[in-house]
Amino acid sequence: MIRVEQLSKDYGGLIALRDVSFEVGRGEIAGFVGPNGAGKTTALRIIAGFIGATSGKVTVDGHDIASEPLEVRRRIGYMPEAAPLYPEMRVMEYLSFRAALKRVPRRRQVSAVSRAMQQAGVEDVAPVVIAHLSKGYRQRVGLADALVASPPLLILDEPTAGLDPNQIREVRRLIRELGKEHTVFLSTHILSEVESICDRAIVIDRGRIVAEGTLRDLQARRGAVEMELLVVDRGGRSAKLVENSPGVETIEVEALGENRLRLRVRSTDKTSPDALMESLVRILVENQVGVRGATCLKARLEDVFSELTRAETTEAGPGGAQDWSKPAG
Ligand code: ATP
Repeated sequence: MIRVEQLSKDYGGLIALRDVSFEVGRGEIAGFVGPNGAGKTTALRIIAGFIGATSGKVTVDGHDIASEPLEVRRRIGYMPEAAPLYPEMRVMEYLSFRAALKRVPRRRQVSAVSRAMQQAGVEDVAPVVIAHLSKGYRQRVGLADALVASPPLLILDEPTAGLDPNQIREVRRLIRELGKEHTVFLSTHILSEVESICDRAIVIDRGRIVAEGTLRDLQARRGAVEMELLVVDRGGRSAKLVENSPGVETIEVEALGENRLRLRVRSTDKTSPDALMESLVRILVENQVGVRGATCLKARLEDVFSELTRAETTEAGPGGAQDWSKPAG
């Protein structure tokens, strides 16, 4: 549905996108993930036809954004981070105005507006002045706006930014629902958003794509595997035995009292973590260490992203160093 090839954007010396290429398939809900300043909004605005690229090519449903901009815009419902609503208008009035602007034929405007209001869950506030709405409802009006011309592709820039936890849950549910009928491409810096909504993630950092794939693919990219062993070690030999085993990179030992220890083992051998764990258990048991538990720790998505973004080039990018553990905004 979306094909981006070697896209670059230079804001007069500040390079926001460098040779970015990716695809979003029809029917997918894809997340565009990256820290603040990574270039997400810039890419989305280019795809939606609001700003031009410095170089590269974007096609939407086979139409080139440079040579067929109207064909592309007809296929896209774009929700910017702060939806530019007219606060003095009533919801229904605003959506009718937007439907007319988007060239929805006059005879279909009433049904298009009521369908969009129903899809976005704003029917009950149809007569309310936008300025009187809560932020969550305003966000939904932004969604209704993106939906009013029934575009096959929805592009949503940080759709839950600034909402409270209940509103976030509601908007995420809505997006999942919309994903049944539309291709959705949304940006976020909140990893749980990707986990709860998206089929696939495209990770951007400092203007470059650093990874893409399903969440499982991304977790598998983790540079190391970690496992935890709970042992009863009267002879005090377990840590040395584990440390000297092939495949073990580092080990952390936590004393739990009464000869019980928690051994946290890190290995860079990602191909056979189960085999490594079995061999460690065998070595310990053969040496009279009691093993009470052994767990292979699943890579947390936060760790994966922080490894991906830290592993990137040290060359100073537009956003500088990013801290994934404390997403701002
Ligand atoms: P956020 O999550 O904070 O919205 P983002 O990933 O969407 O970040 P962009 O808004 O695309 O990132 O910004 C990428 C870089 O380009 C940033 O360094 C930003 O300051 C810069 N930038 C964005 N818009 C402009 C502009 N109009 N003129 C100059 N620089 C800009």
